[in-house]
Amino acid sequence: MKNRRIAEILRSGEPDEFVVVQGWVRTKRELKGFSFIEVNDGSSLASLQVVLNENLPDYDDILKKLNTGASVEVAGVLVGSLGKGQRIELKTDKIKVFGEADPETYPLQKKRHSFEFLRTIGHLRSRTNSFGAVFRVRNACATAIHQFFQERGFLWVHTPVITANDCEGAGELFSVTSLDLKNVPRTQTQAIDYSKDFFGKPTYLTVSGQLEAEVMAMAFTNVYTFGPTFRAENSNTSRHLAEFWMVEPEMAFCDLKEDMNLAEAFLKHIFKYVLETCPEDMEFFNQRIDNTVLATADNIINNEFERITYTEAIKLLEKADVQFEYPVNWGLDLQSEHERYLCEQLFKKPVIVTNYPAQIKAFYMRLDEDEKTVSAMDILAPKIGEIIGGSQREERLDVLERRILAQGMKPEDLWWYLDLRRFGTVPHAGFGLGFERLVQFMTGMGNIRDVIPFPRTPESAEF
Ligand code: ATP
Ligand code: MG
Ligand code: MG
Ligand code: MG
Repeated sequence: MKNRRIAEILRSGEPDEFVVVQGWVRTKRELKGFSFIEVNDGSSLASLQVVLNENLPDYDDILKKLNTGASVEVAGVLVGSLGKGQRIELKTDKIKVFGEADPETYPLQKKRHSFEFLRTIGHLRSRTNSFGAVFRVRNACATAIHQFFQERGFLWVHTPVITANDCEGAGELFSVTSLDLKNVPRTQTQAIDYSKDFFGKPTYLTVSGQLEAEVMAMAFTNVYTFGPTFRAENSNTSRHLAEFWMVEPEMAFCDLKEDMNLAEAFLKHIFKYVLETCPEDMEFFNQRIDNTVLATADNIINNEFERITYTEAIKLLEKADVQFEYPVNWGLDLQSEHERYLCEQLFKKPVIVTNYPAQIKAFYMRLDEDEKTVSAMDILAPKIGEIIGGSQREERLDVLERRILAQGMKPEDLWWYLDLRRFGTVPHAGFGLGFERLVQFMTGMGNIRDVIPFPRTPESAEF
């Protein structure tokens, strides 16, 4: 790793500086007496233009090997570029080809490929402009998230991937087994009862780290998790994955209003950070993927989100002059078409909907005075729908026990969670942000499979 990264050279390299870069060839142009190649190392959208003069030793041989996809090390001096589009280029006197890429078989040729096609070559798609930009922005979002919480004194806590609880109570669980399946033919695995297995107890891949985050918040006040979660979703939508990352802050001594304020400040912070640190990638999305990306970012940063109750939302949806596919009725959950109508058509910005009916929300949400609704809040984003789901948690032992029983769960299974209410209980609140939905929202990418490096969906798991 003796090289300089191309992003840094394009930004601050000066004429006459000697540099060595390593990367992959994107394009080659052969002219009379000299040739150009574009080299990209993933550090930036832009590639470094390299000029090869025909005086280069073994010029013809090397040129034959410099096809799209080949890996190279290039050494030489920087010169001011006469061409349009770049400030500086590299005039090389030494090129080493690490690995060739046969133009007949290398799938990523110069033309633009569809995202559907690129999903079938998930191991190569990160070498394209679009996926380079997506994964750099994804990294920037993650950095912004840690920065936001660390600056505010939140502790990053690590909650288990294997758990015994179905936090959301939605039954979308993957079972975990420790059975030795090596000698069981694949066709017979259906007969195995996984549910009683892991060390003699049924266990699952976590659907949310929230309950464990609450444990930590009851000692450290403000904490957050940021890790993978799993849902056996059979829905083939463009917003659901079987494995996705979630960010879940949990705050003791916090009510619903403070929870909403934090969530709004949090989203604004991430957008600001990404615009500042990835301007070229964001410009690329605006030009090539969705021409509202920059306007949306500006809207998020500069406008207050709309806040309405679920009951108000239902009234607005009933009055809407659009034909929805799913019914609108007090007591039914909002579907994404309803969520999108509210923020795209009606308010034209993110909308926070609060106080949902208790029967459609998880057992841990705090029951309101009317005993019909809970102190929940969902943040709905244009083009995405629900991006954040949060709530004030039920801190009263007797109410919580009642709610657990009402949802057909057993209080004894959650004895440790109830202990948090027996000993030093406090009002507390938190939320869960779907990290991939955030990256979709930020980049304008239409399908959630295209914002995670290795999507796990019902139909795909090649790796
Ligand atoms: P939805 O209504 O869209 O199915 P949810 O209400 O089931 O979402 P929550 O349990 O509230 O989801 O989870 C918190 C957040 O996690 C959601 O607001 C969303 O951003 C994200 N999320 C939920 N399910 C998925 C999934 N299958 N794939 C990707 N992100 C998800
Ligand atoms: Mg769901
Ligand atoms: Mg929902
Ligand atoms: Mg939700």
